[in-house]
Amino acid sequence: MDTCRRLEEVESKIRDACERAGRKREDVLLLGASKSVSLSKIKEYYQCGLSVFGENRVQEFLKKYEELKDLHIDWHFIGRLQSNKVKYIIDKVNLIHSLDRESLAHEINKRAQALGKIQEVLIEVNVGNEESKGGLESEELLNFYERMLAFKNLRVVGLMCIPPYREDPNQVRPYFEKLRKLKEKLEWEFSVKLNHLSMGMSHDFEVAIEEGATIVRIGTLLFGKRT
Ligand SMILES: *Cc1c(COP(=O)(O)O)cnc(C)c1O
Repeated sequence: MDTCRRLEEVESKIRDACERAGRKREDVLLLGASKSVSLSKIKEYYQCGLSVFGENRVQEFLKKYEELKDLHIDWHFIGRLQSNKVKYIIDKVNLIHSLDRESLAHEINKRAQALGKIQEVLIEVNVGNEESKGGLESEELLNFYERMLAFKNLRVVGLMCIPPYREDPNQVRPYFEKLRKLKEKLEWEFSVKLNHLSMGMSHDFEVAIEEGATIVRIGTLLFGKRT
């Protein structure tokens, strides 16, 4: 299928989900999860109007960043991040979706400070309590968030999750609901406004939008199966 048409089909699904949920389209950001997607393909999507991309491996990201420097891409980092790699990406990404431990926060804060930047981050929550997945346990979240307030060059702007896979996306709904409620709890406890819920991937983003997602991270549905 033609690239722009493919993007338009995803767009129209997002619009429909927003409509069902009584939400505005502009309140949901479409992020192309572009791991393993070629440079030329990213360029094609960019030309069709997609400008937010998320990578989850540092080396691959750096290569793409260099090669695509002339485009105005809004790059996010969405994968597990080792502290010793923060220095390579900190001046290149607008949002890090995967803050999951204090040592990483410490490093991000330190590197951001050196650049005179305030780095926006999302805290990743392991909503399904899955052994295999990264993210903070939900019971630790309040305490963790409070400790983040001490870091002056790091700003938590929301939460992210990768919920358990379920054949029926409706069965993922409780996990999205859980992340939304955790965000509301933080907002209430700390009298803050958190702007983002990064949740929803190719097979469950419509449900995620119904549950309040502000960023959906879509790979396969846009770019085809990863090889
Ligand atoms: C790959 C990836 C996605 C996209 O997954 P699809 O199922 O291909 O849409 C979303 N989020 C993260 C963190 C990913 O690594």
